[in-house]
Amino acid sequence: MCRVVAKCMAAVLVATVTALVLGVSAGYVLARTIVLRVAEDRLIHQTVRSLAAADADTAVARDALAAMNASPYAYCSDAELTYFRHILFRSVYLREGGRMGADGRIDCSTTLGRDALPQERFKAVDTERDGSRVYWNLAPFRTSKEATSVLQEGTSYVDGAMQTHSEGLPPGASMTLTLRDVHGQSINLSATGVSFVKNGYRSVDGILSDTRCSVHDPYCVTGSIPEVEAFHLGRSMFAACMTLMGVVGLVFGLGWSFVLCHKWTRGQQLRRAIRRDELRIAYQPVVDLASGRIVGAEALARWRDEDGLEVPPDVFIPLAEHGGFVGEITRLVLRHVLCDLGDLLRSVPDFQVHVNVTAWDLAAAGFVPRMEVVLERAGVSPESVAIEITETSTANNPRAIEAIRQMRLAGHRVYIDDFGTGYSSLGYLQELSVDAIKIDKVFTRAIGTGSLNVNLLPQILAMAEALHLEIVVEGIENAEQARYFATGKRIRGQGWLYGRPMPAAEFLEVLAVDRERPEWKIMQDGYGQDRRYTSPTASTTA
Ligand code: C2E
Ligand code: MG
Ligand code: MG
Repeated sequence: MCRVVAKCMAAVLVATVTALVLGVSAGYVLARTIVLRVAEDRLIHQTVRSLAAADADTAVARDALAAMNASPYAYCSDAELTYFRHILFRSVYLREGGRMGADGRIDCSTTLGRDALPQERFKAVDTERDGSRVYWNLAPFRTSKEATSVLQEGTSYVDGAMQTHSEGLPPGASMTLTLRDVHGQSINLSATGVSFVKNGYRSVDGILSDTRCSVHDPYCVTGSIPEVEAFHLGRSMFAACMTLMGVVGLVFGLGWSFVLCHKWTRGQQLRRAIRRDELRIAYQPVVDLASGRIVGAEALARWRDEDGLEVPPDVFIPLAEHGGFVGEITRLVLRHVLCDLGDLLRSVPDFQVHVNVTAWDLAAAGFVPRMEVVLERAGVSPESVAIEITETSTANNPRAIEAIRQMRLAGHRVYIDDFGTGYSSLGYLQELSVDAIKIDKVFTRAIGTGSLNVNLLPQILAMAEALHLEIVVEGIENAEQARYFATGKRIRGQGWLYGRPMPAAEFLEVLAVDRERPEWKIMQDGYGQDRRYTSPTASTTA
């Protein structure tokens, strides 16, 4: 049992630690997936919002350009520049505007006027389908590090500070504006060169980013956040998922170890042993005390558990009774008995094998008819199989009483086992109507000890005689005890003095020897030996 406990403790430890580690790992993976998914959704949402805001700015620029192109004043006149200023002042986004020829030369500007203008011709980075042209960070107007874009429609242009509308971005995230190429890709300029990035969400080198390009205007917005920042933002999610899954793992681990422990418990081991037919049967001789001859044997179940320890039947039979599968043991014992002693039982009709039966068996529907079928198939007469029943299993149990009646009717001899330890009473014995009693070994053990139990023995013997019951005395270990019962009446006995429970092959050998020797002259020779199976010559002359 200690080994089972140790094994169980080890299982609990291993199973819980493993399940805990697995649970926490699964929690990490789950949290990571959720956090990345949330970061993706938030990033896309913010990029789309930022692009919509940029598109709104551009719409303002286009409105301004339309108004400028509809100028009622002379080209680049003072009045026209004043008119342009009025238009531009209405927008916080537009900082500058004026006239620019198709050749890319600025003719007049709301900030530089008409005289201090750059002489170079500017080249548009893009020409839209509607003919409008885009200049990026136009040199004369670029006053800060802020990106600017110049939009030209007809001969009017406006210059706006590109805004990324990054309000509401989580810490560590950024929103950038880039130019869009004709294929609708973002043009990314970096120290290492130019790269083109398609619309959409991606995760590259630990950076989560989402790029959205304007449909009408030549720019794109890219929102990005390093993965570590996203994880940092989602730390409470990590804590929650890892704790939750850790607890789930722990519970699962405990459940798992419980199942394992349950599997290793004696009850489960016993069930497995029965299923695998691993129980053994030992046969203990039952002798006729008057002649000393072996007249029968009691079949006793033996079981070695999975740790190799011999478990006494006093322990495993109640275990099977509580588990509700003791009937399987009875069936197994009967099967083995018929296999081990079948030939003997068929050929020696007055030899009896005793089989122990429990209250569960007696209460089971069809127990007696099933047993009869098995015996019939084996060609063994019911008279050759005696049934031992304990008093406690039969007391006040109508089904047991009925089963006993049926068994006696079928031809079995029924014995009350461990007589004297249960509900013994005259009335009870009459009601049960059995064939014999087996006087429990506590009485035998009391002989020569002065115990009160010895005083009960003459009464038990007298009562049995009055009720015409046969007697078997259990637990005869020494000559003194044997002598006590050597009254000349036909009493049977069982005990270590005559032979301990032994395997079938050994029992058959012992029986063969017994059959060949002359009958004991009990009264004459006495009971000088402690062992029953000395040589026949020694037995008779001792
Ligand atoms: P039981 O039916 O009263 O069997 C007699 C018990 O006394 C056996 O113990 C036997 O080994 C032991 N015994 C025999 N002679 C002596 C002796 O001289 N001195 C001492 N001290 N003991 C002696 P065992 O085999 O340990 O069985 C214990 C009990 O377990 C049995 O008592 C019986 O109630 C039960 N049992 C054993 N096998 C089976 C079985 O196959 N089915 C059922 N239902 N019960 C069984
Ligand atoms: Mg018995
Ligand atoms: Mg007994």
